[in-house]
Amino acid sequence: MSDSGSAALSDVRFERVTKRYGKAVAVKALSLAIPRGSFFSLLGPSGCGKTTTLRLIAGFETPDEGDVFIRDTRVTETAPYRRDFAMVFQNFALFPHLTVADNVAFGLRMSGVAREERAKAVEAALAMVKLTGFAERYPKQLSGGQQQRVAIARAIVMKPAVLLLDEPLGALDKNLRESMQVELRSLQRELGLTTVFVTHDQEEALTMSDSIAVMRDGVIEQLGAPREIYERPATEFVATFLGASNLIDATVVESGNGSSQVEATFGRFTLAGSHPAGERLRLAIRPERVLLKPGRDSGALPAIVRDVVYRGMSAHVFLESGGLPLLAFVQNAASAAIDWSPGQEVGIVLPAESLVRLNGGAQAHG
Ligand code: ADP
Ligand code: MG
Repeated sequence: MSDSGSAALSDVRFERVTKRYGKAVAVKALSLAIPRGSFFSLLGPSGCGKTTTLRLIAGFETPDEGDVFIRDTRVTETAPYRRDFAMVFQNFALFPHLTVADNVAFGLRMSGVAREERAKAVEAALAMVKLTGFAERYPKQLSGGQQQRVAIARAIVMKPAVLLLDEPLGALDKNLRESMQVELRSLQRELGLTTVFVTHDQEEALTMSDSIAVMRDGVIEQLGAPREIYERPATEFVATFLGASNLIDATVVESGNGSSQVEATFGRFTLAGSHPAGERLRLAIRPERVLLKPGRDSGALPAIVRDVVYRGMSAHVFLESGGLPLLAFVQNAASAAIDWSPGQEVGIVLPAESLVRLNGGAQAHG
């Protein structure tokens, strides 16, 4: 499917890349194209192949099969130092015996950039990461967040075609991490720098990315914009890895006019789209899309409240309906602030537009 015309504007391209370690396959026939200037995240649980994918771009690993391209140049066997990328690691990897300025200047010096030009570039890069005035310090005289900024400055000063980031914020505490997410994203936009970002943190990927590739066992399970991945998960793995999802097995009872009536253990409800009667479907709905009504309401499905966890901004209401556990997130807005309590009989509404059909069908056998 990959002709060079359609991929003209991608800065990184994989064509059916496979990487094995012994018998284990870390990356399986992976194809992808990362558009120029975009912020692209590889998201998935530990061991799914994110770092290996990044190392294949960098050239620290060579594919067993397939080809890697950077800016339309085939680099499959090209040495790392001849590839146009810069990489930032989780542990910063700064030189402890060099000042901040010398750390940032290191790559420029290695590639023979003249002293005066180097000094200007370093100053500009430090300004971008808000470290003007720190040039003469040593890494140990900086906080973790400041050290990470130096690592980022050292990468962007090289003006690489591609910036590779392997869990670069993983070592920072939550508040710092969140402010760095925003800063890194605005810096990336400002520079228009094609960025490949590895994370196992779904919120971080949703916050920062133009597109997210959700990886599992060396393959991309779904690729799309954050909203698409969150709101239209293609599989149960994506639906449950990114946030919470209620999973419902249902059978199509009747269909017509672009919608279907389906039946689950707790009753009948409407699903968008036509499906053949008798088809078994596996559906997902986000807890924030489940509507709760006090008492038994006509048009709502019967459920009982099992537990309520008060979370300030919202409440997590644990329900049971027809033997199936369901979760609803209820906003603590003035209009909706009802005290739900265990044992209470309630009605639930599953809006047709919020139900997502997962690939793979209902699980008929365990
Ligand atoms: P992630 O970054 O998503 O946590 P990795 O890309 O590091 O995953 O690893 C993918 C798989 O490849 C894992 O099963 C891991 O154990 C294996 N792997 C990674 N690097 C090596 C290596 N150098 N030798 C052997 N197996 C490896
Ligand atoms: Mg990793």
